[in-house]
Amino acid sequence: MAKIQMTTPLVEMDGDEMTRILWKWIKDILILPYVDLKTEYYDLGLVHRNETNDQVTIDSAEATKKYGVAVKCATITPNAARMPEYNLKEMWKSPNGTIRAILDGTVFRTPILVKGITPYIPTWTKPITIARHAYGDVYKNTEIQVKNGGKAELVYTDKDGNETRELIHTFDGDGIIQGLHNVDKSIEGFARACLNYGLDLKQDVWFATKDTISKKYDHRFKDIFQEIYDNEYKEKYEALGIEYFYTLIDDAVARVIRSNGGYIWACKNYDGDVMSDMVSTAYGSLAMMTSVLVSPDGIYEYEAAHGTVQRHYYKHLKGEVTSTNSVATIFAWSGALRKRGELDNIPELSAFADKLEKATIQTIEEGVMTGDLYMISTLENKKKVNSEEFLVEINKRLEKM
Ligand code: NAP
Ligand code: MG
Repeated sequence: MAKIQMTTPLVEMDGDEMTRILWKWIKDILILPYVDLKTEYYDLGLVHRNETNDQVTIDSAEATKKYGVAVKCATITPNAARMPEYNLKEMWKSPNGTIRAILDGTVFRTPILVKGITPYIPTWTKPITIARHAYGDVYKNTEIQVKNGGKAELVYTDKDGNETRELIHTFDGDGIIQGLHNVDKSIEGFARACLNYGLDLKQDVWFATKDTISKKYDHRFKDIFQEIYDNEYKEKYEALGIEYFYTLIDDAVARVIRSNGGYIWACKNYDGDVMSDMVSTAYGSLAMMTSVLVSPDGIYEYEAAHGTVQRHYYKHLKGEVTSTNSVATIFAWSGALRKRGELDNIPELSAFADKLEKATIQTIEEGVMTGDLYMISTLENKKKVNSEEFLVEINKRLEKM
């Protein structure tokens, strides 16, 4: 059979540790036999980031802007322990942070559901995708500790030097003050990324803030979303039979728990931080969580939500066989290939991505899985396989498709 041809290269960002090992196996076993893979390769492994003074990370993000679709392996964010381990010149910044800043994107995290692994909320039969706004609020705050009373005011000086003042509080004793901000441009980018992704997945988009209490700050978020929806998306949403839905954050939380899933939940920065951990834990496993960075102008970078699985890598280095779950990384590849197929009008490529995902899920649902899933699966005839066997088992099913 002839291999599927590609016209535009994917931006391939290689990474570190166990996921770097899986990366090569996924390509060799599941992709290269079927696809005449075109990639522009960037080695974001820590060794090469250090050699290039992290320039490779910037170059890979610029290439993503140029081509539109990237697939990324998990990478080490260096801490003190990594300095001697990799003989680093500097404690390089998180590659994900660098790429996100260059693409100005929003991260969407979606769980992969399989039979035998029941979410802690059993009514969640469809995935809930969480989108977290990645700028401002409490993550870029200014704080002051108040000692022995005093007056706290909020002061804004405009470009002409005019001051606007609001009393925050007159303190009698000790206390604390916090200053927050956000910018319309970032909120607009977030709104567009979420509303575009809703069109992509053909799913409703939910957004919630506390605008009844925060009548200017949170209300601004609500208004920006609504304006952009009404002006740019309403017709497209109605044509697809999907909706944009706004409610209060406490109401949203209650509805999410009672829901069956199947929508995108757009969250302010703090809400997204907290809720994404709750939602991913409730679905069962970080190794079954995909992640895609979407920029407001429609650039996509696919990856797994988990890290480099360091503990497994050290076992691997000692020659021990590991049972590491490659599902989220496989879905990063399938997501990127499907998107490339859509953009370049290569339906065979998108169809291959669908089959790869189907074969992966079928493997697990037929009882063949890695150790992390083996521990939580309720299937009766289940079998634990090692990292490489798992990929070979998926390929057996993929070949038949
Ligand atoms: P991790 O790699 O996500 O692994 C934490 C633990 O979760 C593992 O030890 C393993 O548990 C389990 N696990 C995660 N993914 C798994 C998989 N695919 N298959 C089986 N088990 C899996 O997080 P970490 O150990 O905290 O971080 C390691 C490195 O990853 C760090 O250097 C960090 O900077 C980096 N990181 C990168 C990204 C990214 O690039 N997106 C994200 C997060 C972290 P057991 O050991 O109990 O089996
Ligand atoms: Mg967090």
